[in-house]
Amino acid sequence: MELKSFIREIPDFPKPGINFKDITPLLKSPAALQATFDQLAAPFRDQKIDFVAGTESRGFMFGVGVAQALGVGFIPIRKKGKLPAEVFSETYELEYGTDCLEIHKDAIEKDQKVLLVDDLLATGGTMKATAKLVEACGGQVVSCAFLIELSFLGGKEALGDYSIHTLISY
Ligand code: 5GP
Repeated sequence: MELKSFIREIPDFPKPGINFKDITPLLKSPAALQATFDQLAAPFRDQKIDFVAGTESRGFMFGVGVAQALGVGFIPIRKKGKLPAEVFSETYELEYGTDCLEIHKDAIEKDQKVLLVDDLLATGGTMKATAKLVEACGGQVVSCAFLIELSFLGGKEALGDYSIHTLISY
C-alpha cells in the first residue's frame, strides 16, 4: 500500500512557508492505519522490545498501535504538567523558544528495551528529548520509528547514533 497517498500537504500551516504534512486522511483509512502500525513494528518483531514510548500527541496515535502490533505496553511522554506521579523533565529548543516533555520516573526498569514512536521527524529535537527521558529512567532505546521523515531538515544527523526507521520520506 502506498502510504504517501494518504498524507495531505497543507501549504502555509501553521505559518507562511511551512508545508504541513497532515496525517488525518491516513487516520481515517482502516487499511492504511493498520498497514502503518504493521510496517512501523515489522523490523522489531524479534527484538524483544519491552515497551513502546510515544510523544504527545500524534506519537500517541501511532505508538499505541505499534505497541499492540508488538504485543507490548505503551508509555506516554507528555507535555509539562500533565503526568500525575513523579517525573523526569527534559527541556529542548524549538525554532522560537523552548518546550518541555516529561515521563513518569517509574515507567521503565533498568535496561528494559524501548522502541520510540512519533508521526514525523523534522529537526529531531522532540525525539532527542524523548530518548533522553527514556534513558533517564534507565531504559535502553532500541530505535526511533516515524511514519514520515522530512530528510531536508537534518533530523537523522541530529539523532546521531540512534537508529531510525521511517516509512515515508520527503
Ligand atoms: P522536530 O522536533 O523533529 O523538529 O519536530 C517533530 C515534531 O513536530 C513531531 O512531534 C511532529 O508531530 C511535529 N511536526 C512538525 N512538523 C509537522 C508536520 O508537517 N506534520 C505533522 N503531522 N507533524 C509535524
